[in-house]
Amino acid sequence: MSIRLANNCKHCENLMEGGKCKVHGVQVSNSYVCDSFEMKSALKDDRNCTSCVRYETSDCANPEKAAPGMLCTQWAPQTAA
Ligand code: SF4
Ligand code: SF4
Repeated sequence: MSIRLANNCKHCENLMEGGKCKVHGVQVSNSYVCDSFEMKSALKDDRNCTSCVRYETSDCANPEKAAPGMLCTQWAPQTAA
């Protein structure tokens, strides 16, 4: 089973400066999520082989095609922070 990024307030477009939710008007944290969750588009900007933990390792799903600017469904973050 794959380890996946969790959907939570920390990754939500509706999280404002100071940790307040734009939709609910309350203080939230990365322990929470709701049905209004919207993934921050900025998180996807750096998804390519060079930001993949599998890049240039034996775990890479496409070692012959992996390169800067490329991406496959097996992409995984280098850190889970
Ligand atoms: S909309 Fe939902 S997931 Fe997004 S910050 Fe507010 S409570 Fe969190
Ligand atoms: S995104 Fe896919 S092809 Fe690229 S390094 Fe990761 S596993 Fe390999």
